Amino acid sequence: MTAHPPARVRAVLEQLRGRRIHVLGPSGTEGSTVTEFLLNHGIQEITVHDLEPPARFEETLRRTHCWLDSEGQANLAARLRAAPIAWRQGDRYLEGIEDAGVIFVPQSWFRHPENAPVRAAASRGVRLSSLTHLFFEVWPGLILGVTGTNGKFTVVTLIAAMMEAAGLPLVVSGNDRTHVPALYALDGADDATWLVLEISNRQLLGLPYSPHIAVVTNIAPHHLDDHGSLEAYVEAKRTIVRHQGEQDLAVLNADDPLVAGMADGAASSVRWFSRHRPVAAGAYLDAGRIVLAGAPPRPVLEVRDLAVPGAHMQENALAAASAAALVGVEPGTIASVLRAFRGLPYRFRLAAEREGVAFYEDSLATNPASAAAAIRSMARPFHLIAGGLRREARAGDFHPMVRALEYSPVRAVYLIGSTAALLADAIGEMAVPPRVLQAGTLEAAIASAWDAASPGDAILLSPGCESFDQFTDYRERGDRFCRWIDALPARAGRQV
Ligand code: ADP
Repeated sequence: MTAHPPARVRAVLEQLRGRRIHVLGPSGTEGSTVTEFLLNHGIQEITVHDLEPPARFEETLRRTHCWLDSEGQANLAARLRAAPIAWRQGDRYLEGIEDAGVIFVPQSWFRHPENAPVRAAASRGVRLSSLTHLFFEVWPGLILGVTGTNGKFTVVTLIAAMMEAAGLPLVVSGNDRTHVPALYALDGADDATWLVLEISNRQLLGLPYSPHIAVVTNIAPHHLDDHGSLEAYVEAKRTIVRHQGEQDLAVLNADDPLVAGMADGAASSVRWFSRHRPVAAGAYLDAGRIVLAGAPPRPVLEVRDLAVPGAHMQENALAAASAAALVGVEPGTIASVLRAFRGLPYRFRLAAEREGVAFYEDSLATNPASAAAAIRSMARPFHLIAGGLRREARAGDFHPMVRALEYSPVRAVYLIGSTAALLADAIGEMAVPPRVLQAGTLEAAIASAWDAASPGDAILLSPGCESFDQFTDYRERGDRFCRWIDALPARAGRQV
C-alpha cells in the first residue's frame, strides 16, 4: 500500500471511501488494474463481477494481459484470488449490483446485453467510472491523448519516441493490449511526467475529461454497431476536445472533414496536419517534404526517407510531427525518429532488407480492405503474398484487393491458405492479371518470391484474410514471416 499517496490520488480515494464499489471484469486488464489500485490504497468493500466462471478466470486473464509475462499473469491471478473482495462470477454475475455506489466498467461494457442492470443503475444516477477516468483523475502531469479510427498506436509510438529523444519524461499507456496501465507507473511520475495515451472511441464515451493535447488521426465509418450512427460515433470521438479549455491544444487532420469539424466549438487552440495543403499552424507536405508551419516554415524530412511507404504513413508522420513540435521537440529530432521508424509489428512494417529486396510484413491485414490499403501504398515493384482463412468467402469479397492491384506495380502474387482458389479467381478477372502462383504455405511463398525478386523489388505479406487455417493467430503468421526471411539462402552471385 502507498503510505502517502499524492494529492490527486488522495482526492479520488476520498470520493470513493465508504461507497459500495463494484468493478466489472477483473479477468480483463481494465478490471484487474482498477481492483488492484483500489486494494493497494486501502479501499474496502469491493465487489468484483466477471462473466467468466471461476474455472475459466485465469485462462481469460492470461489472454487479456499481454503486457505481463506468464509469471506476472499467474501472480496477478493469485493476488486477486487472495484479495479481501467479494466475487460474483459466472451465474452470479451482477448479483447485488443494485446496491452499488460506484461501478467501474471496462470500455466494452455496453456491448453486452447482460449489462442491462448496469445501464439501469446509471440511469438512476449511480456513478460509472473506468480505468480511463482514473488516468485523468490521478495522473500528476499533463496528458497527451491520441484517438482516431486508424493509426492511433502508430502515432502514439512516434510521438513518444520523439518526446523521449528530446529528453522529456513520459509514460505511454492506453488502449493497446501491450500497454502497461499507467496506474502502475504512478510511483515514478511527477508533475513534469507526460502521459501519452492511446484512447479508443469506447473509452471516450461518457468521459468527463479531455487531455491537454488532443490528437485525432482520422474518422472512418467503423464501429457504427457500437454507436448506432456515424453522428454518434463522431460525437464520442469529439469527447477528446469537448472538455478542453483555452490553455489546451488540439491537433486535427485538415484532410478529414469529420476530424476538421471538431475545431468548431472547441475551446482549445487548433494545430493542423495536412498532406494536401499548407496549414497556418501545424505540419504539412510541401513538394514531397514534411514541413512545420511558421515564418519561415521549418523543413523536417523528405517523405521518401520514410521506411514505410504510402499515404497512411505520411499522415501519421505529419500528425506526430505536429504534436511533438507543440511540446518543443526540434525538427532535427523529429526527423531522426521518423527516419528510424520501420513501422510496428504486424502493421505494415519494413521487416528486413536483404540484397536490395525489402520485406514488408502486414499480418494484421486480416481483411481485403486492409490489404488493399497496403497494396495501394506500394510504389516500387512488389511480390504479394496473400490468402488465408475467410469464413463464407466469395470471390467478390476480394474486389478491393483486385482493384488496388490493377493500379499497382505488382510483379506476381503468391497465394496461401484456404482462400487461395477464390483469390486466384478474383485476380483472374483483372484486365492484365499478374503472374499468380499457388504456393500453399507461407514458407513456400517466401521462398518462391525470394527466388523471383530482383534488387529494388519488395516482398509484401498482406494476406487480406485471417490466419487461423495455418497459424495460431496473425502474430504467429507475422513472426514466422520474419524468421523465414532470416533463413533464406543468400542470392549474391547468382544469375538473375
Ligand atoms: P490503431 O491503433 O488505430 O488500430 P494502428 O497504428 O495500430 O492503428 O494501425 C492499424 C492499421 O491501420 C495499420 O495496419 C494500417 O493498415 C491502418 N492505418 C494506420 N494508419 C492509418 C491511417 N493514417 N489511415 C488509415 N489507416 C491507417
